[in-house]
Amino acid sequence: MKPKERLAIPRQKPKELVPADRVTNFYEVVSNFDQETAFKEADRCLQCKKPKCMIAGCPIHNNIPKFIGLLRENKIEEAYWAIRETSSLPAVCSRVCPHEFQCEGSCVRGKKGDPVSIGMLERYIADWMVENKKNIMAPCALPNGKKIALVGSGPAGMTTAFYLAHQGYACTIFESLPILGGMLTVGIPAYRLPRNIVNAEFDALKNCGVKIVTDVVIGKDKTLEDLKSEGFEAVFIGVGAHDSRKLGIDGEDLEGVTHGVDYLREVNMGKPVHLGKNVVVVGGGNVAIDVARTALRTGSENVFILYRRTKAEMPASQAEIDHLEEEGVTIEMLAAPVKIHGEGGKLSQIECIRMELGEPDDSGRRSPVPMEGSNFMIDADSIIPAISQNVNLTSKEGVDLNLSRWNTFIVDDDTMQTNIDWVFAGGDAVLGPQTAAKAVYQAKVAAESIHRFVEGLDLREGRFDQES
Ligand SMILES: Cc1cc2nc3c(=O)[nH]c(=O)nc-3n(C[C@H](O)[C@H](O)[C@H](O)COP(=O)(O)OP(=O)(O)OC[C@H]3O[C@@H](n4cnc5c(N)ncnc54)[C@H](O)[C@@H]3O)c2cc1C
Repeated sequence: MKPKERLAIPRQKPKELVPADRVTNFYEVVSNFDQETAFKEADRCLQCKKPKCMIAGCPIHNNIPKFIGLLRENKIEEAYWAIRETSSLPAVCSRVCPHEFQCEGSCVRGKKGDPVSIGMLERYIADWMVENKKNIMAPCALPNGKKIALVGSGPAGMTTAFYLAHQGYACTIFESLPILGGMLTVGIPAYRLPRNIVNAEFDALKNCGVKIVTDVVIGKDKTLEDLKSEGFEAVFIGVGAHDSRKLGIDGEDLEGVTHGVDYLREVNMGKPVHLGKNVVVVGGGNVAIDVARTALRTGSENVFILYRRTKAEMPASQAEIDHLEEEGVTIEMLAAPVKIHGEGGKLSQIECIRMELGEPDDSGRRSPVPMEGSNFMIDADSIIPAISQNVNLTSKEGVDLNLSRWNTFIVDDDTMQTNIDWVFAGGDAVLGPQTAAKAVYQAKVAAESIHRFVEGLDLREGRFDQES
C-alpha cells in the first residue's frame, strides 16, 4: 500500500453501548474492533523509522510499529509476543492507558489529523489471544530456590512478580484485601476494565508458580522484618495510594459524605451502596469521573461534578469526559465547595463558591481564584470528594524507611531500591496517584534490581533500561 493510500484511511472507531443501555449495568462500554476494522486501522500506521509513539509516548516503550506490522501480516500471536517483550499487562494497559496523552499523543499522524488508534490495536491483539485460548505467558525458568515477597497485588506487585517468576524466583504476593488487582479492580469500574481481563493475568501468574496470600496487611499482621525472617531475600512494596485526600472543610464528617476511592472500593467489592437521588462529586480527574458514572449505575438520578477549573483543564481523557456527558452527568465548572451543611448529623446542602481562572500554576494550568461574595448552595443527598489519594504507610511499621514530604516512599530512581538495601518500592506508593503503565515501568526496573541484588551483582551496570 502506498503512503498516500494509508493517509486516506480514516481513523476507525470502536462500537460502544448506547448511553441508555450503559447506565443500568457494569458491562464494558467500548467493544473490541472486529477483524476487518483492526486490519484497516493497522494499515494507517506509517511504520516510522524513529517511532515517537514508542520512544517518547509509551512509558514502557512497547515496540508499537513492530506489533502493528505483525498484525498487518496477520501474525497475531507473534504481535502479542512483541508486546509482551516490554509489557506485563497488554490487555489491561490497552484499555486503561491514557493513550491520547501517551502513545497516540506522540503519533505523527496526529499532527495533521487523527493518530493511529494504538490502544485499540493492542487490545485487539491481546483479546484475540484470550478468545483463541492461547497461553498468555511464556514458560517460566526452573525454580532457583530464592524467595521474594511482593506487598500489594496492583499492577506494580503483579509486574514485579511477573518478571521475577520468569527468572525462576519463588514469588509470594501479600494483599491486604480479599480481592486481587489493586486499583485495577477496586478503583477502575468493570465497565472500563472487565474483571476477567485482570483475573486472566493472575491465572497466568499462578501457573508460573506465583503464590498469592490475601487478607494479610503487611505492617500489621506481619512486618517487613517478619518476611525477612521467613527467608524472603528481598521485598517489593507496591501498596499504591489508597487513602482519600480530604477537602479540609467544615462538615466533611457528616453522614452523606463518602470519599471517592472508598465509595468505589465498596461498590467494586460487591457491597450495596446507595448514594441517594442527588449526588455531587468533587474533582476533575479519572477518579471523579469513575465515581460519577458509577453513581448512575448504583441508582442515583442527578449526578453533578463540581470542578474548580474549566473542562479544558480537566486531567481526565476526552473520551472519558464524552462518556460522562453522554450518560447524563452535568459538569458544574469553576466552582468549589467551601462548607458542608447538615441537619441531625446528616448532610443537607453544600455551600460552594464560584471561581475564575488566574495565572498559570506549577502544573502550567491557570489556577482557580475564588470570587468573593459568589457563594451558592446545592441540595444533595451525597457528596463524594474525589480530589486525590495519599499513600497508606502501614506497611513500613517497624522499619525505618525514608519518606518524601508527600509521604511517598523514597527510592533511588535508577534502581527502585529504598534506604534499606533488601527493600524496593514502585508504582503509586512512590509516585503518588499516577497510571498503571507508570507502575508497570517502575516495577520492571525494580524486578531487574531485585535480581541483581539477590545475585550480588552491581545494581546499575548493564541494565535493560540503560540499553537504548
Ligand atoms: C478510580 C480510579 C481510576 C483510575 N483510572 C486509571 C486509568 O484509566 N488509567 C490508568 O493508567 N490508571 C488509572 N488509575 C490509576 C491506576 O489504577 C494506578 O496508578 C495503579 O493501579 C497503581 O498501581 P500500584 O500497583 O502501584 O497500586 P495499586 O493498584 O493501588 O495496588 C496496591 C495494592 O496494595 C494493597 N495494599 C496496600 N497496603 C497494603 C499492605 N499494608 N499490605 C498488603 N497489601 C497492601 C492494596 O490493597 C492494593 O491491592 C485509576 C485509579 C483509580 C483509583
